[in-house]
Amino acid sequence: MDNKLTNHLVYFDVTDECNLTCKICMYKDKHTDVPLHLKLNDYSRKNVSNIINHDDTGLVVLSGEGEPSKNFDCINEILDLSTGNNSFQIITNGGWDVAIQDYLSTLEQKSLDKNDYYSIRLSIDPFHISQIDMRNYVDFFKYHLNSNSNKVSIAVRGLLEYKNATRTHIYKILSTIDNSPLIEERSPLVDAVHMHDKEIIIHYKNIVNNNGAFNKHLFPMLDYINLLENKNGVPFTMGHISEQKKGLDITIKNTGDIFFYGIEYKSVGNIFFDELSINKLLQEVEHNEIINKLYNRSFKEIISKLNTHKIIARDIEKINNPYWVVRVISEKYPELFLKTIKGLK
Ligand code: SF4
Repeated sequence: MDNKLTNHLVYFDVTDECNLTCKICMYKDKHTDVPLHLKLNDYSRKNVSNIINHDDTGLVVLSGEGEPSKNFDCINEILDLSTGNNSFQIITNGGWDVAIQDYLSTLEQKSLDKNDYYSIRLSIDPFHISQIDMRNYVDFFKYHLNSNSNKVSIAVRGLLEYKNATRTHIYKILSTIDNSPLIEERSPLVDAVHMHDKEIIIHYKNIVNNNGAFNKHLFPMLDYINLLENKNGVPFTMGHISEQKKGLDITIKNTGDIFFYGIEYKSVGNIFFDELSINKLLQEVEHNEIINKLYNRSFKEIISKLNTHKIIARDIEKINNPYWVVRVISEKYPELFLKTIKGLK
């Protein structure tokens, strides 16, 4: 794989407000009576535009520490900042307050005007299914089935621990629309749903258990990393790896703070106060010893070093997800964490 970082993923947490209360939620403590929505101003708009429109930015994800559709204004504003030919993914639990098919049609028009590509990624697992009206999911799938657009699509996120629940629910949803839905297992991490000439991809991830609320069988983190390595054909590291191309994995929080995803021990800037560009963020990876090691060293090697500290090993086993290990461990054991990563030869 080319070592140059060129396929960047930019992730926006546009809000911490949520309409659900999932048992496995990683952000429960963020859900308060006073939500914080990301609200851009002129200064931050310039930064956001620089980052999302950079030639090497591959995908912009509009997500949240809650339900992103609670801040549709910001989602629309970021989409409008695109100068065209960009790919966006909007993550949602499916509980939109607006008419689903109308908003998807608006997106379709926007995608044509800009020559952008939008994918709506629905979370479909037992924790979400039990709280979302099935008619919402039906509306998303119906739109996809009836639309001629190849620029707006639907994807699904399921959990490795509950693959069958996701498949069964999708089968139920589709059976209300079409009498011959077909779900094909493409790999341990990916299923494909076929409807007429359309396809919907289901991506499976393992459960993040940082609050310890989940006490049934967890899909082990190292097995999950092995599946990711088989899928990508390269050792798993922090950073964004897709189709053997590697890039920055940038998260912009609702406070404007910027982090590298999974390495959230240190903010690398703020869209409201700092002048930002992809090149500046690349420099940060090059010159910050900790971030550099986390981007370049095999994550399994890092885990094995961290596991030499019994107190950390217990937490790693509980957390069970590679993208949450660093943020939790670096917060709980800052000195031990920094010493261990610096000590990697
Ligand atoms: S929908 Fe997402 S953010 Fe909201 S409670 Fe469920 S897991 Fe948490």
